[in-house]
Amino acid sequence: MYKMSMMPMFTAEAIHECVEAMAGQIRRNYEFDVVVGILTGSFIFVSDLCRYFPRQDLQIKFIKASSYCDEMRPGELEVSGLDLKELAGKRVLLIDDILDTGRTLKCLSEKIRAAGAAAVKTCALLDKPSRREVEFQADFTGFKIEDKFVVGYGLDYAGEYRTFPDIWSLEEE
Ligand code: 5GP
Ligand code: MG
Repeated sequence: MYKMSMMPMFTAEAIHECVEAMAGQIRRNYEFDVVVGILTGSFIFVSDLCRYFPRQDLQIKFIKASSYCDEMRPGELEVSGLDLKELAGKRVLLIDDILDTGRTLKCLSEKIRAAGAAAVKTCALLDKPSRREVEFQADFTGFKIEDKFVVGYGLDYAGEYRTFPDIWSLEEE
């Protein structure tokens, strides 16, 4: 069994400061046509972040990515919910909640490039660099954390905890 840590790892206030700083960094460094959020964990991060880009023409899309059930092709992802051809010619900002092994953002950004996107840059609120299994760095990251399992602010454990405003680590009881 798991329980929440005594104190949040990041309070809602600290998260919002971080999101605002990331938005500034993105705005200064990248012009993009479409935001693609990776479901489900990134839904709150995407909704907070994209309000710092109040542009009439900015498109918001979501994609579902699940590990491919084929042991011969580790790291392959099955994508659903978005036809990647819609991104052809577009400059894409691809957003996930957390960067862990690196497989999701690496594989998805490659697929989006292969589908003909004009540019792809990646963004994750949280980054666990010690867990990386493939060589990958996101273009924009918020908090670097150690190898702990975190929930809240959209992130779940078995579908639970997503609506907690703070980010908490889970510890074994
Ligand atoms: P990667 O492909 O980089 O290993 O994994 C990224 C995905 O793993 C994230 O989108 C997220 O769904 C899940 N993940 C990795 N670490 C955590 C964590 O600490 N907490 C939660 N809730 N999900 C995580
Ligand atoms: Mg995820």
